[in-house]
Amino acid sequence: MTNMNKTVLVTGAGGFIGHHMVSYLKERGYIVRGVDIKKPEFESTKADEFFLLDLRNKNNAMKATKGVVDVYNFAANMGGVGYIDKVHAHILHDNLLININMLEASAQEKVKRFFFSSSACVYPRRKQLSTANKGLCEKDAFPADPDTVYGWEKLTSEQLCLAYYQDYGLQTHVARFHNIYGPLGTWNGGREKSPAAICRKIVQAKKKDSIEVWGDGKQTRSYCYIDDCIEGIYRLMQSDITTPLNIGSDRLVSINDLIYIISSISGKTIHVRYDVSQPQGVRGRNANIEAAKKLLHWDPKTSLESGLSITYNWIEKQVKQEQS
Ligand code: NAD
Repeated sequence: MTNMNKTVLVTGAGGFIGHHMVSYLKERGYIVRGVDIKKPEFESTKADEFFLLDLRNKNNAMKATKGVVDVYNFAANMGGVGYIDKVHAHILHDNLLININMLEASAQEKVKRFFFSSSACVYPRRKQLSTANKGLCEKDAFPADPDTVYGWEKLTSEQLCLAYYQDYGLQTHVARFHNIYGPLGTWNGGREKSPAAICRKIVQAKKKDSIEVWGDGKQTRSYCYIDDCIEGIYRLMQSDITTPLNIGSDRLVSINDLIYIISSISGKTIHVRYDVSQPQGVRGRNANIEAAKKLLHWDPKTSLESGLSITYNWIEKQVKQEQS
């Protein structure tokens, strides 16, 4: 295989997207080094080597990057809306340090390609005031006004990527993820995102029970299944596109729709208690993915129903294991 002698680095390899990326790259024949402050929680890594390193430290970023051709940088201090709404200084501090260190180490190590995982959270508040969001285009990010410091950090790190590309010729590729979900992701503990949180609540509910949901349930989002996201990342990394691209789905659903789909999968009739005092993020967020379709010949293939069904079954297994 042509990728046999290429060592690539995946940071955040103990986390959700990084762990899936490691498995995908191994299947493609790469030699993979994984780096994180923790090992993957739910199954062992397929990485050839796995270093436990805190990338807020510059020397650790240098160690992580030594001898690799490509870097997939997923390491970040992050969580769902309940987390990023509460934690400000640490998100900015940790993530900026990680990204500055990883870009600088990659430039010094003469890495060929650098992937940065940005977010739909970069988009301005004013474009997300209505539930009927037609889809955020890449150019909508400016003039900037993200609703969280997490979004400001991602936007700043995107600029860092551009600067390293311009000044050092490090080929930086940036994807803005829109709600990636699937098995082997955080499903409890306060950092989980809405699909995992709702799956868990419904798994734990008895038939005809009610579950608590943040907001009034009418807020809208679009969701992209992990395998589609990974395929998009890989295609972007093989391309010569150095401007940010949305990776997500353009199927807009409300949180109520999401609850309906997941309760149908579970076979339970579920009632909902709305807690509008809890954070719910922007009112409506959808992805315009026309650029990725055209430039990467990429399209998310997994329907929300089948992706959620796989995720629900996996979370059900986790809940049972925890109870036993
Ligand atoms: P995750 O939390 O599962 O993975 C992030 C990993 O980074 C964790 O394993 C964590 O231990 C590691 N990490 C944190 N601090 C570190 C440090 N100082 N040094 C080394 N490793 C460290 O999150 P994820 O969902 O896999 O997200 C991956 C990337 O994608 C992140 O940059 C995130 O901001 C971005 N993103 C994800 C989504 C999504 O829907 N999952 C959406 C937008 C953007």
